[in-house]
Amino acid sequence: MIVISNNEGKSGIPATASMLAQGKPGLDAVEAGIRLVEDDEEVRTVGRGGWPNLLGEVELDASVMDGTSLRTGAVGGLQGFRHPVSVAREVLERLPHELLIGAGAARFAAEIGAEQCDLLADHSRAAWQRWFDAEVSEADRGNWPDVPLTRYCHNAVDPEIGKDTTVFIALDANRNIVSGTSTSGWGWKYPGRLGDSPVIGAGSYADSRYGACACTGAGEMTIRAGTARAVVLYMKMGMSVERAVEEAVNDMRALKGGLINRVTIHAIDNRGNHRVVAVNGLPGNHYWFWTDGMQAPEARPAELIQISERAPQAKKIAMTVYTA
Ligand code: ASP
Repeated sequence: MIVISNNEGKSGIPATASMLAQGKPGLDAVEAGIRLVEDDEEVRTVGRGGWPNLLGEVELDASVMDGTSLRTGAVGGLQGFRHPVSVAREVLERLPHELLIGAGAARFAAEIGAEQCDLLADHSRAAWQRWFDAEVSEADRGNWPDVPLTRYCHNAVDPEIGKDTTVFIALDANRNIVSGTSTSGWGWKYPGRLGDSPVIGAGSYADSRYGACACTGAGEMTIRAGTARAVVLYMKMGMSVERAVEEAVNDMRALKGGLINRVTIHAIDNRGNHRVVAVNGLPGNHYWFWTDGMQAPEARPAELIQISERAPQAKKIAMTVYTA
C-alpha cells in the first residue's frame, strides 16, 4: 500500500492512509482524503476558500480514476457545491459519461443531492476586490461584467497568483491503483478555463497494471504534453517509474510558446515505488508520503528540475498585491 499527495494534501492524507491501512478501497480512501482538503479553508486553492475567476466566481475542477476498471469521473467549472470530488465520483458511478462541465455538472450535482455551498470565502472576496480596484478601468467598472475580459487575463496567466491543487495517488491492499484531484484552478482565470485536474490523461491517470501519475502546477503544460497518461504509458512500455517521469519532463522541454512554468509530477508504480519531480519548482516544494508500516504520512522534498529560465522573484510581487 502507498499513498502520495502533494503539499496541499496535508489535512486529508492521514485519513486516506488510515483507510488504506484498514483495507478499504483506494477510491473511497482517496475521495475521503480529498473531501477533507476541500473543507480546509487554509487551503486556498481547493474547494470552499478557493480563488475566484476574473468575474469573482469560484469554479471548481475535480476528478477520480479507478485504475482497475479504467473508469473515470470528472467535473469542470462546477459552481456552488462543497465537494466536487464526490460529484466526480458520482459521474463515475451513475453516468455513462466521464466528464461533465459547467451548468450540466451543477445540474447533476443538484440532482444527486450533493451539498450546496457558497464557495467564495471572505479572504477570496477581499482579494478579488483588491484586484478589481487596482486593475479594472473606470469605463469597464461601469459596464461590469459585460466587458471584454481578455485584456485582464494576463493576471490570471501569472501562475504564482493563487494557484495549486490537491492530487492523491494510491495503491490499496487489493492492488488497485487510483487517482483523485480537486482544485479551484488558477485564481483570476478566464471564466470557463479548464485546467488539467479534470482532464484525465493530463492532470491524472491510473492503471492498476502499471501505476499512476498526477500533476500540479501549470495545467496548460500537462494538457499539451498529455503528461499523466504519458508517464503510465512509459511504464507500460517497460520504463521504471524514475525513467518514466524523466521522459515526461523531456516531453515538457519540447513545448514552445504558451505558458512554460512550474509543474510537479507525482508518480507511483504497481510495486510501491514512486518519484516526485518539481519542474521549474522552488526549494521547499514538498509532497506527502505514506506506505504500510509507517505511523503517519511524512513530508518529503520534491526533486527540482529546471527546464526554463523564469524569474520566480518577479512573480512573488504580483502575488502579494492581490492575495496576501
Ligand atoms: N494544475 C492546476 C490547474 O492548472 C493548478 C495547480 O495545480 O497549480 O488548474
